[in-house]
Amino acid sequence: MISVAEAHDTIARCVQPLPPSRLRLSALLGLRLAENITSQVDSPPFDKSLVDGYAIATSDASEMLREVELVTAGGVPTQALTPGNTIRVMTGAPVPAGADAVVKWEDCNVHADGSIRNPARDVRHGACMFRRGASFRVGQVVLNAGKQIGPLDIALLAEIGQAEVAAHPRPRVGVLPTGDELVAAHEPLAPGQIRNSNGPMLLAALTAAGATAIDLGVGRDDPADLREKIGRGLQECDVLLVSGGVSAGVKDLVPGVLAELGVQEQFHQVRVKPGKPLWFGVREDGKRRTLVFGLPGNPVSTLVSFRLFVLSALRALAGESYSPPATEQGTLAKSFEHRGDRPTYFPCHRSGDLVEPLDWKGSADLATLTRATCLAAMPPGDYELKRGAIVEVIPL
Ligand code: AMP
Ligand code: MG
Repeated sequence: MISVAEAHDTIARCVQPLPPSRLRLSALLGLRLAENITSQVDSPPFDKSLVDGYAIATSDASEMLREVELVTAGGVPTQALTPGNTIRVMTGAPVPAGADAVVKWEDCNVHADGSIRNPARDVRHGACMFRRGASFRVGQVVLNAGKQIGPLDIALLAEIGQAEVAAHPRPRVGVLPTGDELVAAHEPLAPGQIRNSNGPMLLAALTAAGATAIDLGVGRDDPADLREKIGRGLQECDVLLVSGGVSAGVKDLVPGVLAELGVQEQFHQVRVKPGKPLWFGVREDGKRRTLVFGLPGNPVSTLVSFRLFVLSALRALAGESYSPPATEQGTLAKSFEHRGDRPTYFPCHRSGDLVEPLDWKGSADLATLTRATCLAAMPPGDYELKRGAIVEVIPL
């Protein structure tokens, strides 16, 4: 059985960023840029007024200024400013040649005939205007490859007229819960049945992680049914998440079917609690490489395996360098006893610095996990940690 660190090393070796594609602005949120973005325009593209007011030349000594034109945003002045004159400009309008400042209309003394007392003496050169290229110039790199694209980056791309950019696309991730006992949330339970909670959980977790989640239905513990549904997943997906059927039971058929379909096993079983039966493999068919995770069926094991391993793989596919989940330090709010030779990722509630282990009843105890905000990474061994001990936690 391999360690958590060895499992990460193996996954890291098998995952590489998805090839970039050119995507429109509406498809970019959360993705990583695959190219440097160089502006083809100055920003702003012309000297523009930052206020509703009057464009003036601060060197003009005239006592009064006559309004000779009004320019609104989207318009252009038809003349240069000459001494004794002012051109009224609204916010966003180009400032006319010959002017070197704009004065807010509220600060001007406007006469009945529309002329204004010349405010030049109290105005500094360049006031209330945004000079062409003051923000950035043609040829300047405004966004760097590798940056995760947020709403402001999308705004900047729109500003410079870059309607499409190269980015690492969202990984397509198939979800296939398996088990004869599974029924959907809206269906009644017959004796022995349980509801499929892993399917909806994984689909939601994938969406939250910025992946494109693909619902492959529910697989039955039957080789033909598993072959068909896993086969579809391998054709369509960059990652396939199968849940259940990877332990040592008589109906745990998933590893066999995966091998039949050409998925190369990389590891099966990790020294970790929960999540020991985790299976990982890769299928390459020339066109597509699919990473396959066989997640243990118990919901808490599924979620912990997803958090520990799948999320890191998704981030690497999306263009980040592969890294195991980052941990933070916290202080135990009460004593904690550990038994066993596997490291345990224990559901805890964290408030501020204090980490409180929850009354967790094992891999099927989903309800307790809903109250958890982090997993404490407890090293293997038989020991007791006292209240106040420092622990490493992974935020959920
Ligand atoms: P397995 O890994 O198939 O042996 O399943 C381990 C345990 O997880 C069993 O008690 C299953 O009934 C349960 N289980 C498997 N799949 C799911 C699922 N999709 N939702 C909730 N529980 C499941
Ligand atoms: Mg099963």
